[in-house]
Amino acid sequence: MQSQCILSIQTPLGPPVEIIRHTFLPAQSAKPAKRVSLVAGLHGDELEGLYICHRLMETLKNLEEQNAFKGEVHIYPAVNPQALETGTRLWPFFSVDINRTFGETNALSLVTEASRTLLEDLKSNSDLVVDFHASNLPLMELPQIRIIKDFEKKLVPLAKLCNVDLVWVHPHAEIFESTLGYNLNQAKVPTLVIESGICLRIHKNYCDQIILGILNLLRQTGTIDSGEPLAEVAPPRLVQPDYVAMIQAQNAGLFVKQAEVGQMLKEGDKIGDLIGPDQVREEIRSPCFGLLFTLREHPLTGKGAPLARIATEKPFKP
Ligand SMILES: [Zn+2]
Repeated sequence: MQSQCILSIQTPLGPPVEIIRHTFLPAQSAKPAKRVSLVAGLHGDELEGLYICHRLMETLKNLEEQNAFKGEVHIYPAVNPQALETGTRLWPFFSVDINRTFGETNALSLVTEASRTLLEDLKSNSDLVVDFHASNLPLMELPQIRIIKDFEKKLVPLAKLCNVDLVWVHPHAEIFESTLGYNLNQAKVPTLVIESGICLRIHKNYCDQIILGILNLLRQTGTIDSGEPLAEVAPPRLVQPDYVAMIQAQNAGLFVKQAEVGQMLKEGDKIGDLIGPDQVREEIRSPCFGLLFTLREHPLTGKGAPLARIATEKPFKP
């Protein structure tokens, strides 16, 4: 494994801001079969990607000793180092979401310099990218890959190899245009965005599941070949845009859950209670049959806030 610093910026206080890339290369210098890059930590409070990269690097070091690399693997485990140091979603001092600055050409700042450097480095080193995210603080997510409808044809077959519970194809929205995933896909570098768990925590089961999926992806794309039989990977549930029921709070209050993500729900099954300031209790029940894949964890709930998402069997009309 070789490690290289792709960006280093001296700060007025303390050590420089550095983004490091770790690279595994094939033993022979022949043209590599495939170049796969794994990116984690765009949001500094999402720790599962960092843990997944750590675990994968251990495994890949062993595979390197067995000369198992046919292609290249590049790992960028902490691409927003200052946010990671403070455990915050946003880049501190500027309060900027780095994953809303990709593809920007006019605004010049430390954050855009980092996002531009990362994007260019990924474009020149990758045939395929996986971008790891955990959920934000309010919501727990079942391991899933989210795909913008325009990129569905190319990405769904790759997403099926990753051992996630579901692959959610959703419509395009303008807000995605400044993300890393969108810009790489636009530049014809297929990029999968994995979302799982919740920020500031590590869900070991989910991480184990995704690690198995990434090793399967590396094997199936011919990037590594250890000669051992492939581990069994479960096919995900493919969810099209009309097949998601979103439940939002009708009132502000405290949400107390009574279900867990991954549960199959029937119409009328209880998901939780929303307790209002006047002690009125609103029972939150499933409007349909389906798989509960998003669930509110943070009790403090504003009016209109998301409480749950359910992958349905039939097109859902609220
Ligand atoms: Zn994120």
